[in-house]
Amino acid sequence: MIQDITPHFINNAYQSDQICQPTDPVFVFRQDRLLLLAEHSSLRLPTKQELPQAKDLTYLFSYDHRSYYLARSFSRTDDHSTTAMSEDMIYARSADEDDPKEVTFGARTFLSLRMSDIRRDPRVRKDQYFSATIAFHLYRWYEESHFCGHCATPLVHDDRERAMVCPSCKARYYPRIMPAVIVGVIDKENDKLLITRYANRPISYDALVAGFTEIGETLEDNVRREVKEETGLDVTNIRYYKSQPWGVVSDLLMGFYCDVEGSREITLDGELKKAIWLSRDEIAGQPDDLSLTNEMMITFRDGKEPK
Ligand SMILES: [Zn+2]
Repeated sequence: MIQDITPHFINNAYQSDQICQPTDPVFVFRQDRLLLLAEHSSLRLPTKQELPQAKDLTYLFSYDHRSYYLARSFSRTDDHSTTAMSEDMIYARSADEDDPKEVTFGARTFLSLRMSDIRRDPRVRKDQYFSATIAFHLYRWYEESHFCGHCATPLVHDDRERAMVCPSCKARYYPRIMPAVIVGVIDKENDKLLITRYANRPISYDALVAGFTEIGETLEDNVRREVKEETGLDVTNIRYYKSQPWGVVSDLLMGFYCDVEGSREITLDGELKKAIWLSRDEIAGQPDDLSLTNEMMITFRDGKEPK
């Protein structure tokens, strides 16, 4: 899975005393794009000294004992005025829609790459992509946390923990994580797993029933509700498997297996375009090994799911 990066190590604890040094790497995002430097046959983040236009550098995490930062604003020119992140990252070479887009700041040319392309780029290791998804999750939260929702006062960063605080009404805003379940529904009698495909998505691989947790709902109720809504099936014997941070869409995914109870007949609700029962030898999996969904399908295929 995406988080299986041993021997690499990421420590997510916020450290308020960290100050960005000239050689520390910096994440600069704009919408769904990240600035990277191409070097030999690999891609890497720029350092603070390589991209002095990056401002408001906020500590994110340590990765292999090195501190990583997020640029929360960006200065296009050298007049020291701090502005919103440059539109150049998105619109560079806008007459040519081909990716990757090149963009020049100072003497250096950077690549402005979409997160979805970074996932598939052979120059990027899995642990590097995982760290980028964590940074992207935090970037999106900071981007949505400029003003107080109660009184509209500009928020400031807390000086001890990862939180944005309102200097006027003292409201506190913590990082937003959206919980969701992924469900492997098993037909024990016929030794089959319920496989789904979603409608209205550009790329649709074999997947499992999945959905967000409602406020006031247990994860077990979430599992029962999603399976019932999407397929009309009833389930029992719900057992936890593993979890996965999925920062590209700000999720925390929790995987469960369960057994179908009663009728095996599937009734689609429109969100899914396909839901079928597959035997172990019919399961193909997804093209890469990043997702919890894929691991759960392969685990069932190999007969290793919790009973
Ligand atoms: Zn306020």
